[in-house]
Amino acid sequence: METHSIRFATPKAPREQLVLFPQCLDQLVAEDAPVRTFAALLDEVDWSAWEQEYEGCGQPPIHPRYLAGAILFGLLHKVRSTRELEEAACKHLDLIWLLEGFTPDHSTFAKFRQRHAQAIKDLQKQIAKVLVLKREEALLQLIIDGTRLRADSDRHGARTAHAIEMIISELERRMEELRRNDEQAALETDDFEGVEQQEDKRETLARLDKQIAQLQKQRAKYQKALGIAHKRDARAQKHDGKKAKPVRVPVTDPESHVLPNKEGGYAPNYTPVATVESQTGAIVHADVLAGSDEAGAVVPALRAAEALTGQKPDAVLSDTNFASGEVLSALDAEDIAAYMPTRSASPPDNPALRPDPSTPVSEEARKRLPKHGRQFARTAFVYNPQADVYHCPMGHALTPYRQHKNKHGVPCTYYRCNACPDCPLASDCIKGKVSSRSITRDEHEPLREAAAQRMATTEGKAIYNKRAPVIEGAFGIIKLCFGIRRFFLRGHANVRTEWTWICTAFNLKKLLVLASSSASGAPTTGNRHCITPQKRHYGRIMRVFGASFVETIRHRILRALQAPRRCPYVKKEQLPKSTGPFAGMTVLGQVWPPGHPRGAGPRATRQSRSRKSLFQKEIASLRSQ
Ligand code: SF4
Repeated sequence: METHSIRFATPKAPREQLVLFPQCLDQLVAEDAPVRTFAALLDEVDWSAWEQEYEGCGQPPIHPRYLAGAILFGLLHKVRSTRELEEAACKHLDLIWLLEGFTPDHSTFAKFRQRHAQAIKDLQKQIAKVLVLKREEALLQLIIDGTRLRADSDRHGARTAHAIEMIISELERRMEELRRNDEQAALETDDFEGVEQQEDKRETLARLDKQIAQLQKQRAKYQKALGIAHKRDARAQKHDGKKAKPVRVPVTDPESHVLPNKEGGYAPNYTPVATVESQTGAIVHADVLAGSDEAGAVVPALRAAEALTGQKPDAVLSDTNFASGEVLSALDAEDIAAYMPTRSASPPDNPALRPDPSTPVSEEARKRLPKHGRQFARTAFVYNPQADVYHCPMGHALTPYRQHKNKHGVPCTYYRCNACPDCPLASDCIKGKVSSRSITRDEHEPLREAAAQRMATTEGKAIYNKRAPVIEGAFGIIKLCFGIRRFFLRGHANVRTEWTWICTAFNLKKLLVLASSSASGAPTTGNRHCITPQKRHYGRIMRVFGASFVETIRHRILRALQAPRRCPYVKKEQLPKSTGPFAGMTVLGQVWPPGHPRGAGPRATRQSRSRKSLFQKEIASLRSQ
């Protein structure tokens, strides 16, 4: 048989090849490597605050520029764990170049990350300031939103105060038993026994002491969790009275809360909040909330943004979770326009908004009256400020009958209708055992109505439409491109520091994009983070639907692929046959499964349907490209 001879390429640098001139580290990294831009940006940073944290004794420390640079570089390349960072510092050429041959170990990275909590905050602000000053319009609009990230705590390790008390008493019983054994072993020491026996006893005593110390450590952990559980129980009782259920506290990280995940289900979570400048997308303020009350993050974010830019924000854009009466009141006091959906926002074509609210809504229009569950929503009632009454869909007046403070301590007026018993719409209007419909109105209601009017204008809609692409894009980059799905540190203060590192890396990435765009002459606006076609598609979908929605779909498809028979959302025969970024997305029977709390109610169903059709259109257009 005739042999087919091919000449294969010879290696460019055989392992045994000697070189005439020794290579320097700089030759190993390409001239246009992004790490060079990264290092140039680090050179511009003022490190004096970091340097002050060091004392002049002992071995000379590694300059903070190297360690901070390596941690931030690692975050940009999905290398978060300090052990992985230690390994990368010896193997990753860019990192070796950046560290100039320093090879810090994991504990050095870990200590450094926590030691410079304040300095990293300042660095995040420094970079944000550079970005914000580059915006084209003088208008300062802030977008604020929160997301969920898992705490470093076991999902099944959350316990009530009662359960923790039982565990502590069991630990104490075991400790008592070990102490008795310890004393017994000490008493049994005999001066006449051999050296080997004495050695064995010493070992036994040491082992018992070690076990006792371990149990004491565990008891301290449970006692900390117990203190937090008691506090949360007291708060829940104050809030809900007798209906309050015992709160479950995650034992490993008791400062986190068991909260709903973005992908469904419950787990110990924190709520990181980011405040982003709308034009540049820079994170100007980063915070982490232990609970889910996001509204409390608005005022500190305003103060921080004002201090950073030296300018009062013109507008704040957020979702409905931030639109509390207190927030609207604080924004109004400072003359800052709030673009937030409020409960007073009327749906389009609301038949309740008729010329004369004292007349009934026509019979054919009644089907279109807004509902909350099976009951008429409050937007089906029209307020008359002159008479201080609400008009119901039948045109009857709801008059004030009592004043009270709500659960937030805000004074409220309750309005009640006296014509309900004979009303033909009572089944759609009254819920439960009460005989008449009532509506509450607190002192912040005029501000909610003003925000709803602002949002209903064409200009208001155009401004509010900026919110989702910017903020969801930021969370999408952090979660998908940086791979941040959970915190590695425990405790609220440590988690805050970790989030600040993440937000600093995000701002640095923005600055890198800006720097490389200016160097290449490419446009400096727009999202240029998504590089591969797959990531670019995800970027587009995220801009339309938001990161959390895309993640829900991805999570569901993965479940379908892993356990096709059990998955309630996708039938077996509907499973995708092709692979690729969108495989399986068109086979989803529905966006929210039946019985899912987010799918309940007509509004959620409407949203769900419209999202599904938009999603399918987007995928069809992407496939046709
Ligand atoms: S039930 Fe009462 S409040 Fe509701 S529409 Fe009828 S009269 Fe008006």
